[in-house]
Amino acid sequence: MAERDRRTQREPGTAPWSREELQEIREGLLAHFDAEARDLPWRDSPDPYRILVSEVMSQQTRLETVVPYYRRWMERFPELTDLAAAQEEEVLALWQGLGYYSRARNLRAAAREVAQRYGGRIPDREEELQTLPGVGPYTAGAVASIAFGRPVPAVDGNVRRVLARLRDEPAPSPPMLRAWAGALVDPDRPGDFNQALMELGASVCTPRSPDCPRCPLRRHCAGRKAGRAEDLPARRPRGPVPHTHARVVVLRVSTDGTDRYLLRRRPPHGLLARMWEFPEEGFLSAGPDDAGGLGVLDDAGDAEAVPGARLEPVEHLFSHRRITYHPRLLELPPPPPAIADSSGEGDLFRWIHDGELEELPLPVAQRRILTMVRSGPGPGG
Ligand code: SF4
Repeated sequence: MAERDRRTQREPGTAPWSREELQEIREGLLAHFDAEARDLPWRDSPDPYRILVSEVMSQQTRLETVVPYYRRWMERFPELTDLAAAQEEEVLALWQGLGYYSRARNLRAAAREVAQRYGGRIPDREEELQTLPGVGPYTAGAVASIAFGRPVPAVDGNVRRVLARLRDEPAPSPPMLRAWAGALVDPDRPGDFNQALMELGASVCTPRSPDCPRCPLRRHCAGRKAGRAEDLPARRPRGPVPHTHARVVVLRVSTDGTDRYLLRRRPPHGLLARMWEFPEEGFLSAGPDDAGGLGVLDDAGDAEAVPGARLEPVEHLFSHRRITYHPRLLELPPPPPAIADSSGEGDLFRWIHDGELEELPLPVAQRRILTMVRSGPGPGG
């Protein structure tokens, strides 16, 4: 191998490219990035906090979606210390609609840890970054390279695809990817290089139809030369997504033109942890014929007697499951029944004024139900 390395002038160690190849790849990719890079708000400054927020928001999410969330976030939490001091509920409310809510919780936890352990300064080395909640190898590499100019790799899904094609490797392992990305990264502009590789994957080397004629790496791309770029990397077989149904009750009490709704806060762990939702039917009562009930209301008689207006079902696809919510709207006369809390869930049920709902973290499907309820009952009403 040493002999071959000398013949091809490869850099010692892991690099599978010669020095000339590395130089061409870096220059070509950076020139493409300089000409085509999207104008994104976090690219204005290398502030590590802003880079961290943008990287966490961009995971599993399209950049067009992220931009308005990022702007709102920075208006509310312009500094890391603002985020560290915020209530979790407010953080979740700002995040609602972006999905994968554990990212928001971890971001807040990371800010608190940086404030406490590092005096408010985000660490600049990958190893330390990876000790923060929610920060894995990718985010650590992105922050270290973009914010601090460290020549380290950052391998996300887009980079994985580009590298698999570049090397004509159907199933590259994480160490392989890290070695390749680490060999490629430009020592003078590591942050730009990593962003360029990600952006190439998002806009040119797309999963189904890579635009090879427009690609600055085409001369070096083994997958393209082999005529099978579209098939790389090999797709992992996926089983069917479980599909469940939930019967949801929207209890509404109107007093003097003000609506109040009964909402439940979800448990602190698991899907949509600590988000608010309209309760499922089983929570309403604990009568003898309702073995599944939890008896949340002191007097649920009215709620049970009225069939309520059926609303359009709302379907939501989570990362590993699909849930169809079947909501119905029940109007109760004032005052709102007291919350009996025989469920043992503490104060997790609350009557909430309509006006407060904007400040509350509601998952996307629940907000769609709310929109329907506000605009009138559906076909079954
Ligand atoms: S040449 Fe084609 S397959 Fe290869 S990296 Fe570029 S866009 Fe992707």
